[in-house]
Amino acid sequence: MKIEKKLQSLATRYRIDNGRKFRLRDFNPGDTAGFAEDFKEESGALLQGSTAQLSELQDKLYAQYRWGLLLIFQAMDAAGKDGTIKHVMSGVNPQGCQVFSFKSPSAEELGHGYLWRTSKCMPARGNIGIFNRSYYEEVLVVRLHPELLESQHLPPACVTGDIWKERYQDISAFERYAVRNGTAIRKFFLNVSRDEQKRRFLARLDQPEKNWKFSATDVRERRFWDEYQHRYEDTIRHTSSKHAPWIVVPADNKWFARLVVSSVIVQALDGMNLAYPEVSDAKRKELAAAKRELIAQPSKKKA
Ligand code: ATP
Ligand code: MG
Repeated sequence: MKIEKKLQSLATRYRIDNGRKFRLRDFNPGDTAGFAEDFKEESGALLQGSTAQLSELQDKLYAQYRWGLLLIFQAMDAAGKDGTIKHVMSGVNPQGCQVFSFKSPSAEELGHGYLWRTSKCMPARGNIGIFNRSYYEEVLVVRLHPELLESQHLPPACVTGDIWKERYQDISAFERYAVRNGTAIRKFFLNVSRDEQKRRFLARLDQPEKNWKFSATDVRERRFWDEYQHRYEDTIRHTSSKHAPWIVVPADNKWFARLVVSSVIVQALDGMNLAYPEVSDAKRKELAAAKRELIAQPSKKKA
C-alpha cells in the first residue's frame, strides 16, 4: 500500500463509532499498523507532511468561520499527551487554537455543575480547541475516588445508584448539542501499556531534565491501573458515537501515536468541505475601488 494511503487508513483504524462491543484488550498499545520499528526516523518527514496539511486546513477553518473543532486528550500519566499536542499542533496558527489543561477543580468550579468549567472553554467558530484532560475525568478519577464526588456538594437525591450512567448520558447529550451547533469532536485515548508507563516514570526519575515532570501522585494512581483500564473501557463503550468518536491510539511508540493523531485531525477537517469565503460582487467592486485609489496616490518623494 502506498504510504499516503496507509496514513489515511490510520485515521479510521483505531476509531470507535459505536462502543457497544468495545473491549480495550483488543487494542495493543504497541501496535504500529505494519510500520516497522525502524520506520521511526522516516516518520518525522511523514508527520511534517501531515502537519503542513493541517496548517492549510486550519487557515480555511478560520477564514470560513463556520465550524469549530474540539480535540480531547485523555490518558494515564506519562502516555504522552503533552508531547503529542506539542508535535501535532506545531504548524498551527496559535491565533485560531487554544489549549486548556484541566487539573483538580477549584472551590469555585466545584460550586457549579461539572460541565461548567469546560463549557466556557469550548472552541468558537473557526477555532480548534484542545482539552488536555476534560469532563471525562468526572467518570474516571472521580469514580475511583469517592471523596472527590463528595467534594462536589451534590444534594443526596442527585447521587443516585445510576450516577455514572447518567453522567455518560449527559456527556453524550452535551457532545451531540455541540456537534449540532457546528463543533466537530474527536476524543483521543492515548493507550499506553503498564510496562511502558513504568519505563517512562523511571526515565523521569533518572534524568535530571525530566525530574520536573515526575509527581509522587503518579505512582499512587498507578496502583489503580486495572480500575482505570476498566473505567476507560466503560467510558469508551458508553460515549462513542459517529459524531463524537473515541480514537484508541496505540501510545507505546510516541512517533506512531503522533502520526495517528495527526491523520485523524486532518481527516476531520477534510470532511468539513472547508473553503475560503466567496467574495461577493459588491465586495469585489469595493476591492477594485480600493486598489484604484491606492495606485492613484502619489508615492512619497525622497528628500
Ligand atoms: P502532566 O502530569 O503530564 O503534567 P497531568 O494532566 O497529569 O499532566 P497533573 O497536574 O499531573 O496534570 O494532574 C492533574 C490531575 O487533576 C490528574 O490527576 C487528574 O485526574 C486530576 N483532575 C482533572 N480533572 C479532575 C476533576 N474533574 N476532578 C478531580 N480531579 C481531576
Ligand atoms: Mg500528571
